Amino acid sequence: MAPFRVGFLFSLFYKMNLPDFTSGFWPLILTAIFFLVIMGRYFLVAGIFYCTFYIWFRSKFEARKINQKNYKKGQFKKEIKYSLISSLLFSVAGAITVILWQKGYTKVYTTTDLYGWWYLPLSLLIYMLLQETYYYWLHRWMHKPVVFKLVHKVHHDSRIASPFTAFSFHPLEGFLQAIFLPLLLLFIPIHYFVLIFLLVIMSLSSVINHLDIEIYPKNSYNIWGKWVIGATHHSLHHKYYKYNFGLYFTFWDRIKRTESPGLKKAMNLAENRQKP
Ligand SMILES: [Zn+2]
Ligand SMILES: [Zn+2]
Repeated sequence: MAPFRVGFLFSLFYKMNLPDFTSGFWPLILTAIFFLVIMGRYFLVAGIFYCTFYIWFRSKFEARKINQKNYKKGQFKKEIKYSLISSLLFSVAGAITVILWQKGYTKVYTTTDLYGWWYLPLSLLIYMLLQETYYYWLHRWMHKPVVFKLVHKVHHDSRIASPFTAFSFHPLEGFLQAIFLPLLLLFIPIHYFVLIFLLVIMSLSSVINHLDIEIYPKNSYNIWGKWVIGATHHSLHHKYYKYNFGLYFTFWDRIKRTESPGLKKAMNLAENRQKP
């Protein structure tokens, strides 16, 4: 019996006679398509979060705003400019990944019977833990004074983070961030549905962490706030530099004792400021 393909769209895509993506203008066309998608995703996600929490429901969430100061003049413009450069870098990485996939070098797969259903959540966890580890140590390295000035200062110019800070990196940092996921795809099997899900998590968590409004519910510190990073955790990183280097989870910060000692208080403060 032919293996059951979960991805109907993908199987259609497979049956289509795809051009050789290494030929002619295809690498450029792929990069342009990725650029439109990645840039569109940036404006869509950051825009929806900004409109929801800063405009449409401003009064409801005012009490949960972490830093009370106003944003610096021109901050959003600068963040958007660097985010567009990051989008371009991620687009090149995406185009190269598609070419590698077409040539059969990646471990992206489409049939669930290849590794079983149990592997779907496991692969997501493996990818996230590896991304966490890479980012934590990369981030620590980027905070070495010489490296910081050159690579990471652009991101920290946003002393008070905003949804638009999520993708605002110096091109060198953007490059270091863009290469990791394609590299993992070469070595660790992942179903393409899980990959899409991971990309959604990446997009949402980066905007949530830079929102500067604590959106997790009351008492979340005691439930998952100890282990999962949110806006309060990351706002303390942008404010004090020397704490809270993690990406999704807090375990590296806890193991290496780089978690801000004021995190619990700051989260409780955000809770206490909430309206009943
Ligand atoms: Zn940093
Ligand atoms: Zn940040």
